[in-house]
Amino acid sequence: AIRIEGLRKCFGELEVLRGVSLTAHKGDVVAIIGGSGSGKSTLLRCVNFLETPSGGRIVINGEDIKMRADGTPTHRKQIEKARTRLGMVFQSFNLWTHRTLLENVIEVPVHVLGVPRAEAIERARTLLARVGLSEKADTYPAFLSGGQQQRAAIARALAIEPSVMLFDEPTSALDPELVGEVLSVIRDLAAEGRTMLLVTHEMKFAREVASHVIYLHNGIIEEEGPPEAVFSAPKSERLKQFLQTVA
Ligand code: ATP
Ligand code: MG
Repeated sequence: AIRIEGLRKCFGELEVLRGVSLTAHKGDVVAIIGGSGSGKSTLLRCVNFLETPSGGRIVINGEDIKMRADGTPTHRKQIEKARTRLGMVFQSFNLWTHRTLLENVIEVPVHVLGVPRAEAIERARTLLARVGLSEKADTYPAFLSGGQQQRAAIARALAIEPSVMLFDEPTSALDPELVGEVLSVIRDLAAEGRTMLLVTHEMKFAREVASHVIYLHNGIIEEEGPPEAVFSAPKSERLKQFLQTVA
């Protein structure tokens, strides 16, 4: 589970997140939607401490990541530990190009988490099979389609056995015909009760898999609720307009 309270992030004068709060309990799928520049990626990057929040709290599995008054986290170790609980999947697949898929998947378990190599390999094979890539374990990313690379990136994120998965527009760099295979993997993860924060512009998909939807505008939650309410009966004029432009 993850809880975010009053999260703020400034880049110099620019306040990109202006007090965002959300909770994802075990098994929740929180979809985050909003226009370009609304702060969606910054939100996920703060959760993973790829960006240092300027204020607010992030509590992962009950553990409060302590910040100083200036927002910087106090303990490097605590952040590293928090990161091992989060599986992040980016828009651009970010696989290590000079390593095979299997090597990509076992890298962090073996070298960061200290999982014995044989065990990590066995688990990696299971994960690659789950995303439909058993045959490609020994292939390098460059020889794969975008959809296959993204599925491998999901397997890699799952390999650390994260308690929360973070997806940042996982299908937006894909050719349209490859989107379905990646969504189908994410759909399976949702069905098996994975906790996820999912930034997406696939509104139909968000409506289908999300337990809660957050509409971000200018770094603030403009509207939120269950998918039926947000998509079928939006209250905010801005959200209504946004849904029209993405439909
Ligand atoms: P998109 O849908 O285009 O991915 P987004 O909602 O993910 O948009 P962010 O990437 O979070 O938006 O960016 C929010 C705002 O913060 C933008 O105005 C962006 O220019 C600004 N921003 C993001 N990262 C930085 C940075 N490292 N330095 C300065 N400004 C930044
Ligand atoms: Mg973004």
